[in-house]
Amino acid sequence: MPEQTAKAAHFAAQLAALREQFAHQLGGTLDEMVARADGHDASGELLRELHGRLHKLAGSGGTFGFTELSRQARVLEVSAKTWLDTNLPAKDAWTTWLADLQALRQSIAPPAAVRQPATQPPTHGKPRGPVRIALIEDDPVYGETLQLGLSLLGYEVTHHAGFSAAESAILADPPDILVAAMMEQLPAIPKLFERMGQSLPTLFLAAHSDFAARLAVAAAGGDAFLVKPADAPSVANRIEMLLQEREMTPYRVLIVEDDEVLAEQYRLALAAAGMLAEKVCQPQETLAAMQNLSPDLILMDLYMPGCSGADLARVIRYDEAWTGVPIVYLSAEGDLDKQTKAMDSGADDFLTKPISTQRLVGAVRARAARARKMAELMSQDSLTGLLKHGSIKERLAQEFDRAERQHKPLAAVMVDIDDFKRVNDTWGHPVGDQVIKTLGHLLRQRLRRQDSIGRYGGEEFVAVLPECTSADAVRLLEDIRQSFAAVRFVHQGEDFVVTLSAGIASSEHYADAQELLAAADAALYVAKHGGRNQVRFATADQVKNGRE
Ligand code: GH3
Ligand code: MG
Ligand code: MG
Ligand code: MG
Repeated sequence: MPEQTAKAAHFAAQLAALREQFAHQLGGTLDEMVARADGHDASGELLRELHGRLHKLAGSGGTFGFTELSRQARVLEVSAKTWLDTNLPAKDAWTTWLADLQALRQSIAPPAAVRQPATQPPTHGKPRGPVRIALIEDDPVYGETLQLGLSLLGYEVTHHAGFSAAESAILADPPDILVAAMMEQLPAIPKLFERMGQSLPTLFLAAHSDFAARLAVAAAGGDAFLVKPADAPSVANRIEMLLQEREMTPYRVLIVEDDEVLAEQYRLALAAAGMLAEKVCQPQETLAAMQNLSPDLILMDLYMPGCSGADLARVIRYDEAWTGVPIVYLSAEGDLDKQTKAMDSGADDFLTKPISTQRLVGAVRARAARARKMAELMSQDSLTGLLKHGSIKERLAQEFDRAERQHKPLAAVMVDIDDFKRVNDTWGHPVGDQVIKTLGHLLRQRLRRQDSIGRYGGEEFVAVLPECTSADAVRLLEDIRQSFAAVRFVHQGEDFVVTLSAGIASSEHYADAQELLAAADAALYVAKHGGRNQVRFATADQVKNGRE
């Protein structure tokens, strides 16, 4: 994406500026150290001070690409540490050590001019509107069937009967995803992306399922493969999987590091890789920053003034909300014993400074991805990706309280698939699963971003619609009911349809979330008894009488 290229270039420039700033300060830092040591005998105090400075220099030097400087500083650091741990150095050893420190100072090239780092541009993701699909298929019957089916599921589909028509339309207004059902056009697609300057997630619908067809699609860079005539629910399912990869909200990383320049360098490196990174240079500000950012991962320096990383990790773990967030130490500490000890206090991993930008980004991304996945497994239903029973109930309770505070109506919806047992009995359990998934996709497409959807039970869903009047909720669910009833499921050449019933209740009439949900359930019961395939709103009467 051109916008992203510009962003990356912007961050690269900031990184370069920081590196220059580091180089600029390097000479002064080393001068100070030489001046501090020169003409003095070795003492515990002096060695401790120099050891601290060298330790820092070795870490940050490597990070900024001063590999040789970092190596030499490390050698000096280790000598100083050894003397501190055992005996002060003999005169000869001390003189040699001072000479090495001076040589280190002289190996630094004169600094380049310092550029001021620019301010950081905002990195907000755009909210998800309806997903826009470009469908290329020259068979008009299949093309139109698929277009209709996907539209019913809430996607915005443009059907192109040929490649050249599609090409100009896609260039003029790129869709979110490309569904290509014409295998002859395979080689043209990478060329199209080249002209666009970006590639789109692409799903190919092949005429054959043999290896040659799959290989041809893979060679053309296809992200997913289905065999024609795949029905709309199957296509929607693959589309959702592709979009999930692209749409992930950026990983949030909190950097706790007392060295401000280094912290900023890490922050920029992670931001350039598309993550949302924030830095804290004063350990006591950590908890407030966690509250703000709610990080997927914490990157933590092991040595900070007044507070060790290990202690800070323990402080974080005292807070129940943060027991799951991974803490990764980033330190120049090479001592395995110390690393292990530090991990005992509740940190999860260790990265050793100096670390290249590439390795830092890779390591953080992999660990953040795993942490995110774990958190999702805890709260999301594996079949539909919607909230689980417990989570949607929790959400309903939260939204109920908020609705009361803001005096805005909240609608609770209970949806249940009709005669689902028969679907399973007739078509088999896996096909039943596909029907459940399809309803999940449909609800997600049709509801707004601020709405929550959960899989309440087997084929039962709960939706929570904040700031939604009962009339609007009824209209919306009626629309969803009709769309779902019109979706054709195809299994082994035979097709079938499935319907749903829904019960709705509005928060205005109930004391708490539990009563609200019970009322929606009672309305659902009325819909079932009224013959299914219908939407019912809980009137005060029904609520009084409970289930009829
Ligand atoms: P009604 O119209 O009254 O809702 O009838 P129904 O057949 O849909 O309702 P019932 O509660 O009798 O049956 C629900 C069925 O859903 C029973 C259960 O085997 C099936 N089911 C529950 N979870 C799953 C699932 O994850 N996958 C599949 N395929 N079936 C499921
Ligand atoms: Mg430090
Ligand atoms: Mg049912
Ligand atoms: Mg049920």
